[in-house]
Amino acid sequence: MNEIEARKQIVYYSHKVHAQGLVCATDGNLSIRLSEDRVLITPSGLRKEDMTVEAPIVIDFQGNPIGDSRRPSTEYKVHLEAYQRREDVKAVIHAHPPKAIAFTIAEVRLDTCILPEVVLTLGDVPVAPYATPSTEDLPNSMSDLIARSDAVMLARHGSVTVGATLSDAFKKLEKLEHNAEILIYAHSLGGAKPFSSEDIHRLQGLREFYGIKTQAQACSYRPSGSASGAANPQCEMNNERSVSRDFSPGTSEFEALVAEIVRRVRGS
Ligand SMILES: [Zn+2]
Repeated sequence: MNEIEARKQIVYYSHKVHAQGLVCATDGNLSIRLSEDRVLITPSGLRKEDMTVEAPIVIDFQGNPIGDSRRPSTEYKVHLEAYQRREDVKAVIHAHPPKAIAFTIAEVRLDTCILPEVVLTLGDVPVAPYATPSTEDLPNSMSDLIARSDAVMLARHGSVTVGATLSDAFKKLEKLEHNAEILIYAHSLGGAKPFSSEDIHRLQGLREFYGIKTQAQACSYRPSGSASGAANPQCEMNNERSVSRDFSPGTSEFEALVAEIVRRVRGS
């Protein structure tokens, strides 16, 4: 993507993250990888609703501004860590989605195994232990997690979502926060009941059919109500191979499953 288009994209999605309450004041930052050694990133101290095409700053992979005396976002190291760990990542959003953050503060597991479209597109969302913002500790805390997930929560702080485009990273951020909102409703009604391990396995089998390209790990099947699962990056589902029914494309089970997903996604 050329720099002019990248600047327009950053402005568009900066305004969206602010409008949707996913950042507050000058929080959060967005970036796009321009080349092997250049990243375009939002500047420090600017409200996302005030973003203009002139505002983003080009930096190198050491965080040095290129031909610019302004300072990049203080969390630029989080972005560079994601790019260095994942060649497929071309865009990164660090935001402060309030509902998803609340789960990390309450130390309640942010279960992403409750909605079919979230299982398909987001998978497991690990939580990095708390690290002081703007320090080296922060990128270190999430480095191994972002290497295998497209969305990571930073405890008591925010989220990091990545993608092939800024649109892709933004969709994952929206899904993450929407999932958290639904979980809060479910908890208020007595608790969220997760999918069975078989349901999750079936859904993950549809990723290829839908052409969903993601590094996202499989959702972990865990009994609901476990607070300690919040920081558990384990993915038990990867070891399960006990699906007894045939959900290959063309089978009646497959057709029924697709119909059910469409029904749920449309909310009918
Ligand atoms: Zn932050």
